[in-house]
Amino acid sequence: MTRRAIVPPATIGMLGGGQLGRYALMAAATMGYRTIVLDPDPSAPAGVVANEHLVAPFDDPAALRRLSFDCDVVTTEFENPPAAALDELAATVLVAPAPAAVRIAQDRIAEKAFLVDNGFPVGRYSTLSDAVEPEIDPSLVDGGAIVKTARLGYDGKGQCSATGVAGTLAAWAQLGGVACVVEERLILQTELSVIVARTSDGRIEAWPVAENLHVDGILDLTVVPAAVSRKLADRAVGLAMAIADALDYVGVLAVELFVVDDQLLVNELAPRPHNSGHWTLDACMTSQFEQQVRAVCGLGLGSTAMTAPSVAMVNLLGDLWSGGSPDWSVVLADPNAKLHLYGKSEARPGRKMGHLTVTSEVGPAAAARALELRSAVVR
Ligand code: ADP
Ligand code: MG
Repeated sequence: MTRRAIVPPATIGMLGGGQLGRYALMAAATMGYRTIVLDPDPSAPAGVVANEHLVAPFDDPAALRRLSFDCDVVTTEFENPPAAALDELAATVLVAPAPAAVRIAQDRIAEKAFLVDNGFPVGRYSTLSDAVEPEIDPSLVDGGAIVKTARLGYDGKGQCSATGVAGTLAAWAQLGGVACVVEERLILQTELSVIVARTSDGRIEAWPVAENLHVDGILDLTVVPAAVSRKLADRAVGLAMAIADALDYVGVLAVELFVVDDQLLVNELAPRPHNSGHWTLDACMTSQFEQQVRAVCGLGLGSTAMTAPSVAMVNLLGDLWSGGSPDWSVVLADPNAKLHLYGKSEARPGRKMGHLTVTSEVGPAAAARALELRSAVVR
């Protein structure tokens, strides 16, 4: 379907006011759009960069009415907006990505079923829900398993490692006995992500493949380009594009991939810009956030070419604040480093407070420098 482009000074609405929303609304503002964000937290990072911040629950009828009256398009920055709220908005205003796509990506059971039904590769798994007597194949879990809640998990939250059938059932109980997937614990060669942007008429662009290191289930380091063969990188991009097509997706979609025995398995989908794409702000012609605006507004997609040979990004978690506010001077003094802080006042352990990016001629140098700078800020 081709639709008319939404051009500035049209109004873009955002469900969710975290750092992803903050960057997308900054990109929108740069291009001359008006922006409204809905988030119940009065200190949400996107609130200060939006023209208007509606401080209300995501399913607040009055707030949703405001968005549908005042916005030309509404998008999201997290995978857990109530699907019913998206449906309600979609009845009167353009919502991108479509509620149907968000609904799939916000439920691991639906997501895996979608992937399997469409022939995309995933690791061995089964599902647990209280609707049926749990039945777990011992061969799935005897070598180690991860139980993940179907909904509302992020940054490794809502997950529990387990071994054996009894251990898996205990982990499930610990997670509250809610609907879950049980995955075989895989031996990962590495993790990749591919971020693509797709328009409603099927134009699609991908950024170079990112290689990601997670610590305690939270993204720690991203290096681009990924140190994998050209063939594997091309396959990863092809896979991500095919997934976006199969979802008839509009907007920016991140596809997290495991590399196991030189094969790609889809880990999960994020229906939004992604932490592993933050480097595009500093080392790419078009950031994932500007592209989100372009895609949902039906504009032409920007170039995804890199502006540096190599880039690394490290997350700055609240743990870095344990000895007091970090000393940023060494980061700010480095001509190849960029500091990003999201304006969150409370630094809790594991909370994403910011990130830093380093560009260089070669991948290992960028990663080493980014890690070195992060260590240097601790008081
Ligand atoms: P989240 O929504 O928290 O990102 P993920 O399913 O992506 O949840 O899991 C977080 C991280 O945990 C992954 O990036 C990976 O490092 C590790 N992980 C998750 N599932 C598996 C698995 N089946 N085998 C091995 N490692 C896994
Ligand atoms: Mg993940």
